[in-house]
Amino acid sequence: MKIFKHIFLDLDRTLWDFEENSRQELESIFKKFKLHQLGISLSNEFIKIYKSINEECWALYRLNKLSKEDLRSVRFLKTLEYFGISDHILAEQIGQEYVNNSAKRTILIEGCHELLIYLKNKYQLHIITNGFQEVQVEKMSNSKLTPYFEKMITSESAGFKKPRKEIFSYSLKLTGAKLSESVMIGDDLQTDIKGAINIGMKSIYFNPNRKNHSFNVLADVQNLLEIKSIL
Ligand SMILES: [Mg+2]
Repeated sequence: MKIFKHIFLDLDRTLWDFEENSRQELESIFKKFKLHQLGISLSNEFIKIYKSINEECWALYRLNKLSKEDLRSVRFLKTLEYFGISDHILAEQIGQEYVNNSAKRTILIEGCHELLIYLKNKYQLHIITNGFQEVQVEKMSNSKLTPYFEKMITSESAGFKKPRKEIFSYSLKLTGAKLSESVMIGDDLQTDIKGAINIGMKSIYFNPNRKNHSFNVLADVQNLLEIKSIL
């Protein structure tokens, strides 16, 4: 499709395997801080509870009801409290360890490099992410993703989070892209796809778990490499 010139991609869970990288970091934290000695018997239980609390915290962060700093420690404080451990200092230490180390992990979604090599030959590529600026820069650098992209737009640099229209209009302005020449690729219906629809941008939904939805998208793909036959 020749009409497109700019492709905007989400980072977490679209290119960088957030689930697996995060799981490995939490396993490592469980061992390092000897959480089984504090009464949490299984790392799987710890990870399951953390994930659910983390999602609640991120939902509050997206609504600007929780600050970035609070998000980082509160999610672990609440996880420890679930297991009957009330320890602010430990929560702070674990929060710091997680932020320092998770971005060093480099597992990518299957087909990521092959897709980016293909797209880079035909289009200008950019990232639009709701993740934290310094964390996302580090993840991209460690995972060798940086050279594919012209611009990385974070919600912190734009001042608005996906799905807000403003982060998309900011991205178009920053990259000099026209709306009609742009496509958004992402794994999240409520942020990536809804955001693209809010501004009238075409979108491709990366849908590895085959979720049902009624969003009007250019394509819905289960594997990243399917995008090569669309763009
Ligand atoms: Mg994502």
